[in-house]
Amino acid sequence: MIDIEILNRLNAPNRAERLDNLKALLGEAKFPPAVPEYINNHIHTTYSFSPYSPTAAVYAARAEGLSVYLSSGYRDYATQNYLYQRKIGQYGEEVAKTIVAPPGTSEHQTGLACDITDRYYEFKDSSLENTELYQWMSQHCQEYGFIVRFPNGKGDITGIIYEPWHFRYVGVEAATYIMENDLCLEEFLALYHEG
Ligand SMILES: [Zn+2]
Repeated sequence: MIDIEILNRLNAPNRAERLDNLKALLGEAKFPPAVPEYINNHIHTTYSFSPYSPTAAVYAARAEGLSVYLSSGYRDYATQNYLYQRKIGQYGEEVAKTIVAPPGTSEHQTGLACDITDRYYEFKDSSLENTELYQWMSQHCQEYGFIVRFPNGKGDITGIIYEPWHFRYVGVEAATYIMENDLCLEEFLALYHEG
């Protein structure tokens, strides 16, 4: 069910109004069960204002006038396997596994991760960091409980190349610490287990 009234509120013509409406929606105790979102050009209603939903971050960025594109969210095993096999076909397994997580190990399969790109710049490579959208996301994602999961220069620790499009939900508190201290999740977990 698409809630047109909520969509209208989130897409109000006036920027201040959009932000007020978003704040009001976030402040309401009960969020609507599903808000439509475009994924791969199809309307999905699987994202709701649940604690780990990227919907709030997406609409906050949109309220700032940024062209957000939620390019990938939850994936089942078959979808992850398809993407993985396709990369093996292109690059061989050694390289493929640093680009796409092998099926069964992707954060997308947990429903806690999403890929966010610019609607007008959907290329998933490191140049995405130059978009205004990424600049905003990397400064504000933690407010919505998300982190840049595979940051620049941390590939040796994460095992995955720099992915300025891939965000992972860890909760606001952990996300704030991770982003403010320029950590990757592995470094944070090591500190957490020490402390
Ligand atoms: Zn991803």
